[in-house]
Amino acid sequence: MALIVHKYGGTSMGSTERIRNVAKRVAKWARAGHQMVVVPSAMSGETNRLLGLAKELAPARQGDAYGRELDMLAATGEQASSALLAIALQAEGMESVSYAGWQVPIRTNNAYTKARIESIDDVRVRADLANGKVVIVTGFQGVDDQGNITTLGRGGSDTSAVAVAAAMKAAECLIYTDVDGVYTTDPRVVAEARRLTTVSFEEMLEMASMGSKVLQIRSVEFAGKYKVPLRVLSSFTNWDIDINEEAKSGTLITFEEDEKMEQAIVSGIAFNRDEAKISVMGVPDKPGIAAQILGAVADANIEVDMIIQNLSKDGKTDFSFTVNRGEYAKTVDMLKTKVLPSLGAEEVVGDTKICKVSIVGIGMRSHVGIASRMFRVLSEEGINIQMISTSEIKTSVVIDEKYMELAVRALHKAFDLDQPPA
Ligand code: ASP
Ligand code: MG
Repeated sequence: MALIVHKYGGTSMGSTERIRNVAKRVAKWARAGHQMVVVPSAMSGETNRLLGLAKELAPARQGDAYGRELDMLAATGEQASSALLAIALQAEGMESVSYAGWQVPIRTNNAYTKARIESIDDVRVRADLANGKVVIVTGFQGVDDQGNITTLGRGGSDTSAVAVAAAMKAAECLIYTDVDGVYTTDPRVVAEARRLTTVSFEEMLEMASMGSKVLQIRSVEFAGKYKVPLRVLSSFTNWDIDINEEAKSGTLITFEEDEKMEQAIVSGIAFNRDEAKISVMGVPDKPGIAAQILGAVADANIEVDMIIQNLSKDGKTDFSFTVNRGEYAKTVDMLKTKVLPSLGAEEVVGDTKICKVSIVGIGMRSHVGIASRMFRVLSEEGINIQMISTSEIKTSVVIDEKYMELAVRALHKAFDLDQPPA
C-alpha cells in the first residue's frame, strides 16, 4: 500500500467512455489498497477549442493584456474533466472528490499562461485520502497570491502531477498517455524503434528538450529536482489488466545510473524541425561581437540554441546560430535593422529548412569516439553537417531538413537501437 499519483492526458480523458475506463482503472488501484491522487488533463481538443474562441474575439494579443482571462478560460477544461472523473468514480462505487488548483491550493507565481508552481498545500488532500477517498486534482492550473487563476503552459498537467507527487512524497507518479512509453526514437520515423524499459532522468531531459513530446520538459526538471519516481505508460491497455503487470509496464525514468538495466551507449535519437539557422556574415573579428549580436537577440526575448563562430579570415568572421522557426523572420529583421549597421557586418542570411538530430546516452560519458561514429554514419549517407554541438551525454547536428528521416534511420541502426539490449 502506497501513495500513488496517476496523470491522464487529454486523449485518455477524451470521451465519457474513456473517462469511465480511467475511473475503473483508478478504482482497481484504490481497491488494491493504494492511496490515489489523480491529475487529469482537459478532454482532448478542449484547451484548443477554448483558446480558439478567445482568438476569435481578440486576434491580435496586446502584450499580456488578457493573459489573466485566458487562464480563467483555459482552466475550465481541467475543472470539467476532473469533476467528470470524480463522478465516474462515484458511479463505480468509489468515494471521490475533485479540487480545482485554487482549492488545494497549488500556489504559483503570477506569470499568466506560463506560471510556475511555488508550493502545494497537501493538508486537504491528505485528509481526504485518510478518509478513504480518491482525490482528483486539476492539472495545468494554480492560483497566484492575489487569488487569480493561473495556468502552467501547454502540456502543463504533466508538471502538475509531478509537483503533486513531489509535495506528497508519493511512491510513484504514473503518467498515462496515448503511447506506451519512451522509445529509442519516434516509431513513425523508424518502424524498428523500441520502447525503453528504463531511461535515466538526464537522458529524458535531453530527449524532452529536443523534440520528444512525451513529457512536458518542466515536469522532467521537476522530477529530477525532487527525485520523483516517474513512469510513462499507456492508458489504452484494458483497465482490468493485472495490476502488478501494469505497475511494471511502460518506461521508468530512473535516477541511479547503475540501476539502469539497458547498458546501451546511445539510448535514443531525438530530432526536431522547429529551428531555423541564421548567419551574420563578414563580421569584423574583434572582442564583443558575440555579445553584440546575441545580446540584441536576447533583448528581443528570442531564445538561441546552437551557436558557432568561424575562424576569421582577413579580419572578418561569420557567426551562426539557431532560433525557433517561428521567430526566424523577426530575428532576421531585427538583426538587419538594429545590429548590422552598428556592427559593420556584411549581411544576414538564413535557412529555415534545417533540422537538428541528436544522439543521447549517459553511456557517452565513458566512451570515446561516439560523436565521430555519428559523423561517419552521416557522411556515409552523403549528409552534410552544418553545425555541431555536444554535451556530456548528447551530440547534436544541424542538417538539411530533407535528410532528417534518412539520418535518424541510419543512426538508429548504426547504434544498434533496433536490437534488444544484451
Ligand atoms: N490541457 C492543457 C493543454 O492542452 C494541459 C495539458 O493537457 O497538459 O495544454
Ligand atoms: Mg501532454
